[in-house]
Amino acid sequence: MTNNFEGTMKCVVKDKAEKGLTTTTKPIPSDLLNDEVLIKVNYASVCGTDYHIYSYDDWAKKRLSLPFTAGHEFSGEVVKLGSDVTSVKLGDIVSAETHIICGECEFCLRGEGHICENTKIIGVDTDGAFAEYVKIPAINCFVNSKEANPLYLSVQEPLGNAVHTLAEFDIEDKDVVIVGCGPIGLMGVNVAKAYKARKIIAIEVNEYRLNLAKELGADVIINPINEDVIKRVYEETNGRGPDVIGEFSGNKFAIEQAFTYCKPGGKISLLGLPTKDIEIDLANLIVFKGITVYGVVGRKIYDTWYQVKELVDNDLLDFDKIITHVMPMSKIDEAMELMGSGNCGKIVVIPGE
Ligand SMILES: [Zn+2]
Ligand SMILES: [Zn+2]
Repeated sequence: MTNNFEGTMKCVVKDKAEKGLTTTTKPIPSDLLNDEVLIKVNYASVCGTDYHIYSYDDWAKKRLSLPFTAGHEFSGEVVKLGSDVTSVKLGDIVSAETHIICGECEFCLRGEGHICENTKIIGVDTDGAFAEYVKIPAINCFVNSKEANPLYLSVQEPLGNAVHTLAEFDIEDKDVVIVGCGPIGLMGVNVAKAYKARKIIAIEVNEYRLNLAKELGADVIINPINEDVIKRVYEETNGRGPDVIGEFSGNKFAIEQAFTYCKPGGKISLLGLPTKDIEIDLANLIVFKGITVYGVVGRKIYDTWYQVKELVDNDLLDFDKIITHVMPMSKIDEAMELMGSGNCGKIVVIPGE
């Protein structure tokens, strides 16, 4: 390989309309547009979306056009600039906002790019970061502090989801319930602790993740398989219910329960994606309780990223507990099966290994 970053690179592609991913080599992207940059990927983290791509479920069948390189959560170093790029420099350590937004629709123009109507996603609609190199628009780069640990920086995009979910409402000195402790819910527990919630109650069916939630700051853990969730939440909140609920599970029953035990005047932030219709008594559980419901789409661009940066730069989170596995990218199948088992927090892979 030369200094011009020519030659081939290892990468993980989705090229077959069936379960699985293919580890292969491809040319290093050489066709940078004027507004794009080439990034050498240091670490890439594995997302639930990647698991959908791997397992090729109904969502993946409808959504994806093959082939493409998967992966979208990463940190890396800028090694090549398109001719018009001024917002980042060679050597910058960056992470990516994975939503490529149009900048021109009504929502982008009023500063709500997270709900852009023309959003494309890195590693879903474009070639992604399960590769030694990735090219993305310079405007999608978020420049990190040089001192920050690049391993930690690779999970800032999903962390941004957790921050967006919990930063929408004031949670300091409030009782907070985190529903669902997958990797983002676990981050949510840790973020709630960093934001000084009074009591953090975590709800999750997987014991491994429930225990991790405790280590990350949950004061109370509830496994719905063993306990009556509504009864226990009321017991832990003086019979009134929590002030704020972060919903990360997407589970129909967990969501319906959350609306039941939410405190009057409480706030519910919804990130999890249910696959079934939710049935709630809207009149009694939302209107007459005066509840505020917020739908979380991605990250606010770039407000959320600055909130994440503050948490990272001030060392307010337990990344060593959030990231439970670091593996060579060549073991991507193993990483995916581990993800599917639920016995992990965040898994990070090292491209080139
Ligand atoms: Zn993701
Ligand atoms: Zn737009």
